[in-house]
Amino acid sequence: MSFRRALALASLSTSAWAASYHFAAIWDGEKIVRDACITVDGDKIQSVGPCAGEAVDLTKYTAIPGLIDVHTHMTFVLGNPVARAARNAATVFLAQDNARKTLEAGVTTVRDLGSSGYTDIAMRDLIAAGKMLGPRMFVAGYGLQNTRGTNVTPNTAHGPVEVDKVARAQIAAGADWVKMYASTGTGQDVSGTQTYSFDEIKAAVDAAHALHKRIAVHSYGPDAARDAVRAGVDSLEHATDMDDETIAEIARRKIVYVPTIDHNRYYVDNYQLLRYRADSLPKLNDYIQRNLQTARKAFAAGVTFAMGSDAVYTMFGENTRELGWFVKAGMTPEQALRAATVNGAALLEMDKKLGALREGYLADIVAVEGDPLADIQTVVEKVRWVMKAGKIVVDKTR
Ligand SMILES: [Zn+2]
Repeated sequence: MSFRRALALASLSTSAWAASYHFAAIWDGEKIVRDACITVDGDKIQSVGPCAGEAVDLTKYTAIPGLIDVHTHMTFVLGNPVARAARNAATVFLAQDNARKTLEAGVTTVRDLGSSGYTDIAMRDLIAAGKMLGPRMFVAGYGLQNTRGTNVTPNTAHGPVEVDKVARAQIAAGADWVKMYASTGTGQDVSGTQTYSFDEIKAAVDAAHALHKRIAVHSYGPDAARDAVRAGVDSLEHATDMDDETIAEIARRKIVYVPTIDHNRYYVDNYQLLRYRADSLPKLNDYIQRNLQTARKAFAAGVTFAMGSDAVYTMFGENTRELGWFVKAGMTPEQALRAATVNGAALLEMDKKLGALREGYLADIVAVEGDPLADIQTVVEKVRWVMKAGKIVVDKTR
């Protein structure tokens, strides 16, 4: 066992024994402090400030808060070889890879927006109990879909009454969030046709809020986005081509926008692996540009953003590439970092525990090589060390 590992374990096992970590600089969520230490006691930060006494040498690195990806699909795995009846159990096993890669990207918390068989709840609980390595998860169970016909699944809901019932069923099963697909659009399909009416979206919003939960609405196009905003959702996913009036309303209501621009880049880069048609590529590329353009307008209008990758399959590990798009949309690297930390924590109602390096907060710390405020690619490409709740979960410092 290395000295560093011994320190981490010691800090876990006894609260009388805190460990300090010395960084070249610390960005605490608000400002940068040079040549400083973070002292960790158990799973929490005891102090951030000048170094005093023994400290683990991480002076090659800048510390930032553990990153928050507010849109993942952790349980989407490619090539599950297990027979259908047992597939969900196998999914939880196979998805460990996604969880590990997410941590390696510096993401210590995710909001997972849609799963089947409640495999997301299984992962969340296994990780929370320390039986599986992965980021802290906030999950949605089944995302509500307005699929008509005979193919009724646990996530199908049509009309406000059914929507209310199915949304409540997710929460009863243990979901932290409600997810609703209010338009078409997924994978190589970039259509954004509205699938849920205002009344149906409102029914889902009311069900979630009545049970003190929040709701995220998927809309690829502008129509369902407009109705979702009017219905009072908490976050809006994708939402390309929104008009100025809708954007102004999002800013006014302080709804969080999660554009997920990078996930279509992943689809383009991996279209053969995903068996997409070659003729879907121009449409995907066009959508990416419109998505970026909408994000640019929204940021200029004062909308609050959070970082969501919409990671599926082999995209895990690329969770933070979205930050590059945020800078393209007009953010400074620091504003992009805020989207991935402070804003994500606030969306999850965890802003007193996560998203900042501050006394009493959970010790989720990421060490990056370089200056993240000068170049956001430092965060995307140069994560060297990750601590989650006081435990070192990634160490590439040697
Ligand atoms: Zn998604």
